[in-house]
Amino acid sequence: MSERAQAIIDLSAIAHNVQQLKLRAGVPLLAVVKADAYGHGLIPVAECAIAAGAQWLGVALLEEALTIRKATIVAPIIAWLVPPGSDFAEAIKNDIDLGVASLPIFREVIAAGQSLDKRPRIHIEVDTGMTRGGFLYEWENFLLELAQEKENVTVVGLFSHFARADEPGEKQNAQQLKRFVEMSDDLNRIGIEPQIHHLSNSAATLVDASAHFDLVRTGIALYGLTPDLTHLGTSQELGLKPAMTLRAKLHIVKEVLADTSVGYGATARTQIDTKLGVVAMGYADGIPRVAEGAGVFIHGKRAPICGRVSMDQFVVDLGPDSTAQGGEWVVIFGPGGSGEYTADDWGIASSSINYEIVTRLGTRVPRSYTHIKEGE
Ligand SMILES: *Cc1c(COP(=O)(O)O)cnc(C)c1O
Repeated sequence: MSERAQAIIDLSAIAHNVQQLKLRAGVPLLAVVKADAYGHGLIPVAECAIAAGAQWLGVALLEEALTIRKATIVAPIIAWLVPPGSDFAEAIKNDIDLGVASLPIFREVIAAGQSLDKRPRIHIEVDTGMTRGGFLYEWENFLLELAQEKENVTVVGLFSHFARADEPGEKQNAQQLKRFVEMSDDLNRIGIEPQIHHLSNSAATLVDASAHFDLVRTGIALYGLTPDLTHLGTSQELGLKPAMTLRAKLHIVKEVLADTSVGYGATARTQIDTKLGVVAMGYADGIPRVAEGAGVFIHGKRAPICGRVSMDQFVVDLGPDSTAQGGEWVVIFGPGGSGEYTADDWGIASSSINYEIVTRLGTRVPRSYTHIKEGE
């Protein structure tokens, strides 16, 4: 284990969140584990989510899905960002469901299935207003081709994605829902009835029961983080437990006089004689370079960031009375229950969101896992 930095993942929190979300959803749950499970570690999280009751796994990339299969996880998986030129045959061989978002992708999937003499399982992605993935201008042509290829493919699902689910009451949500149902009707008209319709991300799972359909796809909430602090409230208000605690070691502690400039660009100056701590983690590890208003937690107190974050280290103001010493752990963010900063705090401080704070954690930060059951 690294003596410098650690991300500690509480798998019992993830299990708790799966159970909470399943209760809210009332339909099967797909655990979104793309991007190394939002930085929490693909395989440990996938195994934990399935054990806790998630029925499906969802990833963006084909290689993520193949990694899951190599770990001998047999749950159904969808990979929804598999562009033309990908090894679709490998996906089909490994029983990976494919998101199909365009005609070129559809044609390659069909060809790969025929070369293997095995029917590909697909989820048709439709663009209902996000204007990112999914069929939009090609829809009518796709329906014609699909009608001809019906026997060569199993249409397992129809899905789409909300642009503004974290703003409940926003009228675009109702428009997207309506469009989703219309496009579902278009499919039925050519004699295709997917078993599974899915539209909800975490935000819609938490606040919009009308959008749950047959399956919900939850990412951020699985990790105990709120999809939107302003509109949906804190993790705690949503009944979720943040799973990740990030900590690093103090490298050195130094006493400095008032009016001492700190760091690159000398963007900060000490107000009083104080003690500064140098934390052994930097932007190469995923700490945002500019994060004014964030900091670390040590000896029961917050120590704010002082100056710009460097590649491998950053400076915090421990205060003149601190007894902290080099070699001690500081908490960069955690669930927040003890007064430590949270991923939400770091998101706000860096003009970003909790999603980016956890997913950008670098590969040189080892992940370790705890699984503490309630009451232990
Ligand atoms: C990432 C992603 C999700 C999960 O979104 P959250 O807001 O993290 O719940 C769901 N569906 C698709 C298609 C995604 O790309």
